[in-house]
This record gives sequence, C-alpha cells and structure tokens, in this order.
Amino acid sequence: MPPEDYYEILGVPRNATQEEIKRAFRRLAKQYHPDVYKGDKKEAERKFRKIAEAYEVLSDPVKRAQYDRLGHVGPEQAVDFGPEGFRRTREAFEEFFGPSAFEEIFNLFFGEGRRARTVSRAQRGEDLEYRVRLTLEDAAFGTSLRVSLPRYEACRTCGGSGLSPGTELRTCPTCRGTGRIEYRQFSMFGTFVNVRTCPECGGVGEVPEAPCASCRGSGRVRERAEVNLEIPAGVEDGARLIFRGMGNAGVAGGPPGDLHVVVEIQPHPVFARQGRDLWVEVPVHYGTLVLGGRIRVPTLRGEEELEIPPGTEPEEVLVLRGRGFPSPEGPGDLKVKLRVVIPKKLGREERRLLQAFTERLAPPPPPQRPRL
Ligand SMILES: [Zn+2]
Ligand SMILES: [Zn+2]
Repeated sequence: MPPEDYYEILGVPRNATQEEIKRAFRRLAKQYHPDVYKGDKKEAERKFRKIAEAYEVLSDPVKRAQYDRLGHVGPEQAVDFGPEGFRRTREAFEEFFGPSAFEEIFNLFFGEGRRARTVSRAQRGEDLEYRVRLTLEDAAFGTSLRVSLPRYEACRTCGGSGLSPGTELRTCPTCRGTGRIEYRQFSMFGTFVNVRTCPECGGVGEVPEAPCASCRGSGRVRERAEVNLEIPAGVEDGARLIFRGMGNAGVAGGPPGDLHVVVEIQPHPVFARQGRDLWVEVPVHYGTLVLGGRIRVPTLRGEEELEIPPGTEPEEVLVLRGRGFPSPEGPGDLKVKLRVVIPKKLGREERRLLQAFTERLAPPPPPQRPRL
C-alpha cells in the first residue's frame, strides 16, 4: 500500500509555506471536529488521524525534507499517537481551538468518547409570571382576557440573531474560540493553571462581528406585549396556567420561555365556595317555611326558582343539583341555606294578626338536649 500523500491530505501544493500548511490544517481540523462533523464518527476519526499525521510531518522542516526526498518518514520518526507525539499538531490545534481542546478531541476519538459540553449563544427566554384576578363566574365558565404585559420580544431589526444585518459571527478573539481562559496562579505550593469561562463571549467561543444596534446584540428588546389569555372553565384559586412559548423571547434566537398565569379568584358577593359546591344564604319569611312556596335563588348563570316544601325547618339546606362549580368529575351543587327573617318593626295590623295567630297555636314542645 503506497503511503498517502500528506500534501494531498491537507490540500496544499508541494511548495506550500508553513503558514499555508497551518491554515489548511486548521480548516480541516475544524471541518472534522466532532462538534461540527455531521457524518459518521468513524469516518471523522479516520480523517482526523490523517490530517493530524500529515500536519505532524509537514510542519516539521526536518521531517518534511525527509518526506519530500523519500516519500515517507523513517520508522524511528513514525508518528506516535500518544498524547506527546502530537506536540506541534497539538500546539497548532490549541492555538486555534484553545487550550486543552486537543485533549478533548483526542479523548473523543481515541478515548472514552465523552463529549465536551458546548455552550450555545442562543439561550431560552425566561419564564414570566402574570397574576390575573377572575370573578367566580369567569373562573367557572372560562374567559378570554386581553392583557398587556412587559416582555422581551424578538428584535425586528436583526430577526433575533443579535447580529447587525449583513454581518456574521467570528471566533472570539479573547479565548480564540474555546470559550475558556486559562490563567496561571502562583502560590507557595506551586503554580496552578486555572480555567474560567471567557468573559467576552460567555463561553460560547464566538462573538458577533458587529452587534445589532437595536438590541445591543441580545436579539431581543423589552416591550409591552398585548396577549390573549384563554382561561379554561373551572380554574381554581391559586391555579398556575402555563402558556407555552409566551414568556420572554430567547437570547440570540433561542426559544422563548413560558408564561405562567397565576389565578386569583375574587371573593364573590353572594356565593361561598366549598370544593366544587357553592353556598348561598337566602332569607325567607316564617310563613313561607310553614306553608311552603317558591323563592328565587341566584345561581352562577342567573336566578332560578326553588320550591320550598311546607314545614321546612330554617336550618334545612336545599340543594340545586349541578349548579355548583365545574370540575372534571362534573359540576358541584348549589346549596341553599335558609334564614328566617325576623321583622324588627311591625305595623299595628301585622302585630295584631301575628298575636292572634300565635295565641291560636298549640304550646311549643318541651325543651330538649341540643345536638352540638
Ligand atoms: Zn437586534
Ligand atoms: Zn471568548
């Protein structure tokens, strides 16, 4: 098998300068970088090995001269794939991709295959919280609210990219695309190499050539947004409704966050709630309880007539089935608590009639032990 041509592998002419060889290597190394290369991983590994080997030889004037003369490098100078064998390749690689980038790619191809975490410029927008106060009726039957809320919207100038129109991203000059800065720390115990996130690009490795002037590169601007909130029927007090994608727009084209709508149900002037049942208190006259009759009772959907049977006790609770609060198990009931109206002032005629009536009644039953 004839040795492969290193110039062909790097795609450079035989009289290429060291600078051209280096540029070709960087371009190819980037192309077959596992974070970028979309094809087969084994293929990428094979290509990467070849590129690294070619660069290792051609970047060394001694090895290159030997290769030019013999068409191969001597066995004693064969390319060693151990971590130290790639010294120049590593240097060229790290000059471009940043410190320890070579170690990472090496591990990816020849080691555990663990993937370095990549930081993206685009970030999901924050979730927003918005409180709504609903009437009991709106909570019961659902409603549509139009609200105006302050929120980040995608910048219209740059379409959310954060880039000034017509410009692109470039490799961050501060960290040379690695997203990390290595710095040495000297102490009495020795020198430590520390790594921190690049402050210029926030660890992304790329920065805009020119940030969009409208959004200062973030891809979003703060505005008041008019949004429609569809509140479903039967929401509970304190319920948290999540409207997907209606939160803040993402940074640099990232997906939007969610809008959390927290429901507060206003106290109702007439109804009290107990689970899915509603309670209402209706004052009635003594005579209506004794004789029976029809009274008008408020419900969430308007007034309804309720039949009071003759001889109804004042503490009795009458029930209107299905007129309570909606729920997945079906609506609750409306419970009607009756209260006897005791007139504080009576006309002469009413007093006479009531007196005559009371005198004709049998004496009340004896006292009894109450149920507590
Ligand atoms: Zn913009
Ligand atoms: Zn940077």
